[in-house]
Amino acid sequence: MSKKIQRITGKTGVIGIFGFPVEHSFSPVMHNAAFQAGGLDYVYVPFEVPPERLAEAVSAIRALKLRGVNVTIPHKERVVQYLDSLSEEARLIGAVNTIVRSGDELKGYNTDAAGFLRSLEEKKVAVQGANVLLLGAGGAARAVAVQLALAGARRVGIVVRNSGWRKAEGIAEIVAGHSCAKSTVALFENTQDLIAEKGNIIINCTPVGMHPNVMEMPPFKLDTIPADSVVCDLIYNPAETLFLKTAKARGLKTVSGSGMLLYQGTLAYELWTRQQAPVDIMRTALEEALQRC
Ligand code: NAP
Repeated sequence: MSKKIQRITGKTGVIGIFGFPVEHSFSPVMHNAAFQAGGLDYVYVPFEVPPERLAEAVSAIRALKLRGVNVTIPHKERVVQYLDSLSEEARLIGAVNTIVRSGDELKGYNTDAAGFLRSLEEKKVAVQGANVLLLGAGGAARAVAVQLALAGARRVGIVVRNSGWRKAEGIAEIVAGHSCAKSTVALFENTQDLIAEKGNIIINCTPVGMHPNVMEMPPFKLDTIPADSVVCDLIYNPAETLFLKTAKARGLKTVSGSGMLLYQGTLAYELWTRQQAPVDIMRTALEEALQRC
């Protein structure tokens, strides 16, 4: 990674991230490394935006002529109402993680789900015809469910505890309404019928196992699933969760959430700059930042 000090001038374009809290975000490190390596006159800064000030913060994108922003927890869904237009995926998912300004027009995109899909492609995991099982039914699960259904998954199962049932049904309806995939909802204790003989992709979309609770894993039995199953985790800290370690010990292929984090960033970079993202620079910056925490 370049260690040059970035010169900020009156011409420097500003891009940011709105979150609450935001200080733990890895995006500033990843994007600033990319801008410096590419010689692009942009700087990426974190903005802590409390929920009640989100509308003002979105207006400030226009007033301050920011090139765009990322949007993270807890704003991804509420921000939709303040934008002028949405990409097709963001509309279906109902959440935005990237905003691009053109003049006074703000357009929202969702690069989280596309980033996850790219991380599967990188690991040569076939989504076409797959039997996808999502553990959890929050915002990330909805994004991934819609994206994988649009990418040709055959069946999308959403596995929840009791409190998540309604959200899971909402996801199942979107999937059934906009793709050919069959959608099913089940409780964690009733997943046996959801496992196919082959082509399973199992994805932890819950925060169970995330730092500092690294000795926890979602209540899903990995010991009886077919040997060709792929096990994924959206968690990126730690890069390899106990869930993935357990799957790996069984000889199963695994995909970490760090790929999703990387590729949601590279896709956002390309939307803002209209240039190809320096993927390796961004990956290195991200890995270094993850190792430091
Ligand atoms: P969220 O909206 O809060 O949803 C969390 C889901 O997990 C809910 O369905 C929740 O169920 C379920 N859950 C929580 N604790 C559980 C437990 N102990 N047992 C079973 N289910 C449980 O969160 P999110 O925004 O979707 O994020 C989910 C995960 O994805 C987080 O770890 C986040 O860091 C990760 N993520 C990663 C990336 C990336 O770039 N790699 C991007 C986005 C998100 P209830 O409704 O019943 O509480």
